[in-house]
Amino acid sequence: MDLPVDEWKSYVLQKWSLLPKSIQVTICTAETLSDIFLHSSSLLQPEDEMFLKRLSRGYLVGKDPGAPLFYREQGNKKFQEKDYMGATVLYTKGVSHSRPNTEDISLCYANRSAALFRLGQYETCLQDITRAQMHGYPERLQLKMMLRKAECLVTLGKLQEASQIISDLESHFTDRQTLAASQFQILQSTLCRLKRKVQEKENPTETFPAALTTGFEDMNLREENEQISCASSSVTLCTDPLKGRSLIATKDILPGELLVREEAFVSVLNPGEMPPRRDGLESKWDTRVTNGDLYCHRCLKHTLATVPCGGCSYAKYCSQECMQQAWDLYHSAECPLGGLLLTLGVFCHIALRATLLARCEDVGNVTRKLCGEISNRDICLPKSKNLVQTLSHDLGRESEKNGKTVEPPVSGCDVNGKYGSNYNAVLHLLPHTRNHSPEHKFLCALSVAALCRQLEAASLQTLTTSLKSSQPEAAVVPAMCQESHIWGPAMLRHMLQLQCNAQAITTIQQTGSKENIITDSRQVRLATGLFPVVSLLNHSCSPNTSVSFVSTVATVRASQPIGKGQEILHCYGPHESRMGVAERQQKLRSQYFFDCDCLACQNGKRRAAAGPRWEAFHCHRCGELMQGDDVLSCGSASCTESASRDHLVSRFQDLQQRVGKAQKLLRNGKVERAIQLLFGCQHDAESFLSAEHSLVGEIEDALAQAYAALGDWQKSAAHLQKSLRVVEVRHGPSSVEMGHELFKLAQIFFNGFAIPEALNTIQKAEKVLLVHYGRGNDEIQELQKMKSCLLDLPPVPEGPAV
Ligand SMILES: [Zn+2]
Ligand SMILES: [Zn+2]
Ligand SMILES: [Zn+2]
Ligand SMILES: [Zn+2]
Repeated sequence: MDLPVDEWKSYVLQKWSLLPKSIQVTICTAETLSDIFLHSSSLLQPEDEMFLKRLSRGYLVGKDPGAPLFYREQGNKKFQEKDYMGATVLYTKGVSHSRPNTEDISLCYANRSAALFRLGQYETCLQDITRAQMHGYPERLQLKMMLRKAECLVTLGKLQEASQIISDLESHFTDRQTLAASQFQILQSTLCRLKRKVQEKENPTETFPAALTTGFEDMNLREENEQISCASSSVTLCTDPLKGRSLIATKDILPGELLVREEAFVSVLNPGEMPPRRDGLESKWDTRVTNGDLYCHRCLKHTLATVPCGGCSYAKYCSQECMQQAWDLYHSAECPLGGLLLTLGVFCHIALRATLLARCEDVGNVTRKLCGEISNRDICLPKSKNLVQTLSHDLGRESEKNGKTVEPPVSGCDVNGKYGSNYNAVLHLLPHTRNHSPEHKFLCALSVAALCRQLEAASLQTLTTSLKSSQPEAAVVPAMCQESHIWGPAMLRHMLQLQCNAQAITTIQQTGSKENIITDSRQVRLATGLFPVVSLLNHSCSPNTSVSFVSTVATVRASQPIGKGQEILHCYGPHESRMGVAERQQKLRSQYFFDCDCLACQNGKRRAAAGPRWEAFHCHRCGELMQGDDVLSCGSASCTESASRDHLVSRFQDLQQRVGKAQKLLRNGKVERAIQLLFGCQHDAESFLSAEHSLVGEIEDALAQAYAALGDWQKSAAHLQKSLRVVEVRHGPSSVEMGHELFKLAQIFFNGFAIPEALNTIQKAEKVLLVHYGRGNDEIQELQKMKSCLLDLPPVPEGPAV
């Protein structure tokens, strides 16, 4: 997904292998990225572009006139089945394929408003009603929609507007006797009901408790760092000739303290599984839910009521404003290139967007800063006069070579020595040019070259059409094409940087069906972005911080006490609770080009090859750990038990499959059968896996869900507590994983009215989650609601046993 699709990859690799040796050598030994780019792009032939075009055409990114009706009908089916969420997404797909101001788009919006109404999303329902009307919703269908609008307004307490609509409707339909008698009756009774509701609301008999005030007080940094924007004053930026840049604590830091809060300089929504359309498939339209259906293409906000770009079907936004901003900043250039960008992958897309954004940065300001008076600290004064020259200067220099070039003390800072989330900082992230293989560099360079050519072609086309229709559009692109010798290498640099500097933007998605009373959550990858300040953090397999995201904003919090002078570390992915030491080392070396020497790795190497406890096999006789490579033998001196690894692994895989089957049964509501199967699994697991094995945890977790579905809270809680212990051993008592698990347990106790236990667990869950997320987090708010609800219950308990 990050890199180009396999077909293009193997095509380019083959092209590379057929190149004459002399040309390969020229590219391999090229001094600068500009040279690599220029040599490679001169090799891009028309037939290569044709091949790429064929691949791009496989993606459905334009507006397909047949699609709105198809999706609307599919949506109506879901609506009939009362799957309102599913219906909403299908109407969204219908909307995105419709042209503005057509009956198609207005009908899709109107239907979506009905589904949103059923989901209780009254505000968004009203927005969709307005949109349907804006795009010319047919007069003959107005009645139902206006009633829905009145109902929303009443529920939201907007009584004056509601009364106005009700009286309009009354006069309108009593004037015209166009309705059949039965319809008229329905209308009459609905209006009556609404009027009664309005009266009730105007004279409320009960007062609602004041809404919980959201504690956002710690969403902002307490004291901003003078040297690094977006970072707290508790850290400072250091450089070391060997390790490069790092962040160091300037004072003792407590768990939960906010250290960095940074908006992505650039981010691109992960398209998710979007296989190219293949001819001959039963349906050419995809009904599956993708990230693009649920999250804003620009700000990544979750929304069920997106508005589509007027020119394509793949970019959908949370609001008209977001759409306009995206259009002005980058989408006017990207819009016609959807298929190509999906073919070339997310990294290429980010590279393009970063350069488009760079052009929108206040170029005048940047230039002024660069040429401005030198502050008395003589830091980082480029010889160049403007941004474009700075760029060619930086790209030409390729700071890593020979180690001879004189670097400013901290690269990426401005003349005043300040580091921030801007293009200058992005440009200075290391591309590790010498570490990438020649084939990889060729693939990236050729992909960028192809993208530049397509940009040129597309901009010419827009230019001619906009001349014809006199629409002033896409002024950015032509200028960019003229300077492709600058922006091409810049994009290549970004593509190479991304392998080490891309940050996965994740979100917590609630899983489980509506019937599941306990909501389970899992982390999903939503987008990929560049965060120059977060990029200052070095890696540890057992980090002292925790990173989380709200839309495109990353927050880094201390996850444990950090002493003054200690380095702030975060995990690039290979965490010690997810991978063994050898696998981590291998991954870090191949992707990030360094040998990890963190504490976890040092300890891990000493502890040799026993493997982590959550993957260990146990002796079925005495319960001791089994040790060895191909043949495992019991660790107890008095026991002679042994088994082949292959045998144990195949037993494990078999068990894993059965657990998967049980989880599926559970999802489909076949609870009794799931429980039966799970008890069988549990019995088997006991005979060869430790009680702390992660699969044992999964079995217990599934049993907890099953009993919760049956309403047996006591059994559910007992099983979840076992799963909790497994999570604690693996991830630690104050890990974010532990927080989510405690949240689930709190829900179970809450639903079972086990008040002291619930309050106790809520407190624990809150404490752990606060460290990782701060007050604004959804789960924390939910916990607080539970707490105030429990404390309001009539016989107030003595409070939690401490
Ligand atoms: Zn948005
Ligand atoms: Zn578009
Ligand atoms: Zn490590
Ligand atoms: Zn034994």
